[in-house]
Amino acid sequence: MTKPVHDMNRPRSLAAFRRAEQLLPGGVNSPARAFGAVGGIPLFIERGEGASLIDIDGNRYLDYIGSWGPLILGHAHPRVVQSLQRAIAKGTSFGAPTEAENDLAEQIIGAVASIEKVRLVNSGTEATMSAIRLARGFTGREVIVKFAGNYHGHVDSLLVSAGSAAATLGVPSSPGVTAGTTRDTMVLAYNDVIGLENAFRTTGERIAGVIFEPIVGNMGVVRPTEAFCLALQRLTRQHGALLICDEVMTGFRVAYGGAQQLLNISADLTTLGKIVGGGLPVGAYGGRADIMDCVLPAGEVFQAGTLSGNPLATAAGSAMLDELLENPPYEQLDRLGTRLEAGLHQVAEAAGVPHTIARVGSMMTLFFHAETVTDWEIASRCDTSGYGRYFWGMIERGIYLPCSQFEALFISAAHTEADIDRTIEAAGEALKEVGNRE
Ligand SMILES: *Cc1c(COP(=O)(O)O)cnc(C)c1O
Repeated sequence: MTKPVHDMNRPRSLAAFRRAEQLLPGGVNSPARAFGAVGGIPLFIERGEGASLIDIDGNRYLDYIGSWGPLILGHAHPRVVQSLQRAIAKGTSFGAPTEAENDLAEQIIGAVASIEKVRLVNSGTEATMSAIRLARGFTGREVIVKFAGNYHGHVDSLLVSAGSAAATLGVPSSPGVTAGTTRDTMVLAYNDVIGLENAFRTTGERIAGVIFEPIVGNMGVVRPTEAFCLALQRLTRQHGALLICDEVMTGFRVAYGGAQQLLNISADLTTLGKIVGGGLPVGAYGGRADIMDCVLPAGEVFQAGTLSGNPLATAAGSAMLDELLENPPYEQLDRLGTRLEAGLHQVAEAAGVPHTIARVGSMMTLFFHAETVTDWEIASRCDTSGYGRYFWGMIERGIYLPCSQFEALFISAAHTEADIDRTIEAAGEALKEVGNRE
């Protein structure tokens, strides 16, 4: 990995990380922040302003992470901040119903066509964990199908890798997850229609649900084929299994109605997170009313939460969704995305770096590999050390990209055309360095 010489520019971050390493495992509260995939010391952040992040050493960066997805309006958006200020003065948690929960639920139901009822939780992980429990409770079946390279949070039964043969039952992908927990999870290749057909042919009557990222962000951006979407919809319906669309990343990101609106698919259950919390810890799962009414106390599938529907979280989420509905940024985001994609392609060509770019609206990945990425097997062929050098070259030029090849970058509504052009120029220089090393 690149020797991060730039740590000289960040003595405070370096000191803070050394301290954090004594206190937190790996110095962080979530592994994606640790720069493990690119080497070096993470930036410690002092504040965010619009499209910018300022670290504790006073360096300013153009931010393409947006807290890994939630901040589609940029940092500290005035409408979100005001809504939080109003809410916080009235108390931070009641453990009793509030009208603000009705408001956010109504906004979610209004946005995502397939959601008739919704339950608010505190994270994306909680949403997916609860949705698969509900799918199993509703159908009375055990098996959940998932796809390699799709991430659904750190739910035990979804921390699974494919077994040796295709379409075998999964094996744990983390110590601490038991074989018993993952025995009822099947891992298939993304975009593999035949694999999906085979799974339903052999196991159809035992499959409770299929959970998938409708546009993948968690192996870098990967689009589903139309045939794959159609097969998901058709096979789950035919076999009485539930289609669980994990829109934690894509919800309110690729369109106000999420990927389902964009791809014209309709899920039985949808999981949300990230944008729906406006930058506070929120998740949600929702779908057909007859299914959702199986959740306690309407039904018997247990799921609860001390801070669920928290008044600060609902205030931030509602303000964010109000703004997205009244001033939709999606066309602007797509224009900026188109500009960035074209520019990056051009400078990568010029630098002689083998690459392919995948983008849906404001989600994008520059893969260090020439082949179009359709599944995890292809994604895993990327030149990750080349990506690491590119990442540090960009940090040096004041551009903060995801610290892994296998994460999407996000453009926010606070980014400008000038920001995009500056990014392309920086990428041209950084990629030339990457190209020269090879
Ligand atoms: C981020 C993410 C999750 C997990 O959400 P957390 O809030 O981090 O628990 C689940 N699914 C997808 C698609 C995600 O992008």
